[in-house]
Amino acid sequence: MRVLIVEDEMLLAAQVDKFLRDEGFVVDVASDGEEGLYYGREYDYDAAVIDLGLPKLDGLGLIAKLRSERNRVPILILTARGDWRDKVTGLEAGADDYLTKPFHMEELLARIRVLIRRAAGHASAIIERGPLRLDTARKEVRLDDSRVELTAFEYRVLEYLMVNAARVVSKSELTDHLYEQDFERDSNVIEVFVRRLRRKLDPDDQIRPIRTVRGQGYRLALGTDGD
Ligand code: CA
Repeated sequence: MRVLIVEDEMLLAAQVDKFLRDEGFVVDVASDGEEGLYYGREYDYDAAVIDLGLPKLDGLGLIAKLRSERNRVPILILTARGDWRDKVTGLEAGADDYLTKPFHMEELLARIRVLIRRAAGHASAIIERGPLRLDTARKEVRLDDSRVELTAFEYRVLEYLMVNAARVVSKSELTDHLYEQDFERDSNVIEVFVRRLRRKLDPDDQIRPIRTVRGQGYRLALGTDGD
């Protein structure tokens, strides 16, 4: 999952950046509203965390701009303590949720996860598809009730496919959402991970949980109609 942070307090931005990376997110940090707008236009994010008080272009202006360009990224705003007007105007401008400073990193993480799930139409931390069960809070995968041990990156690939199970996900979309931008993007690497996932989830080649859609990408084929 790829998250954009727009925050001009460098220390706070660095803390959020590190915390989210440690949790397995790909993170971009912008330190003013114009840079945030650039990133927001350039990349496709799973969520954005936007401080309201920003240089060059403030948070409200940034959100209004993104929304006017039909950018539907889930947005969490950071507001100063007790300033309820900020929250209201932020939500009216198109933000999806807010968090008051100072906050605990765990709460930020929980809110981001909720936004991402909600955007994908999932209400709970558990995503189930057929015999496959993903606990996104504990990063645990179970298949028919037995635990499947995945590496951190295999988990990220599977989580992305499960959250977006209603559609075909292309290899380039996977690399965009799961890799740092300076990482060498090679779709062969994605193929290797998908192959490993298939082996772990379906050693006997029976349920074929991840289908290849020729020329388009991958689709999770569990618990969906027509499979
Ligand atoms: Ca600020």
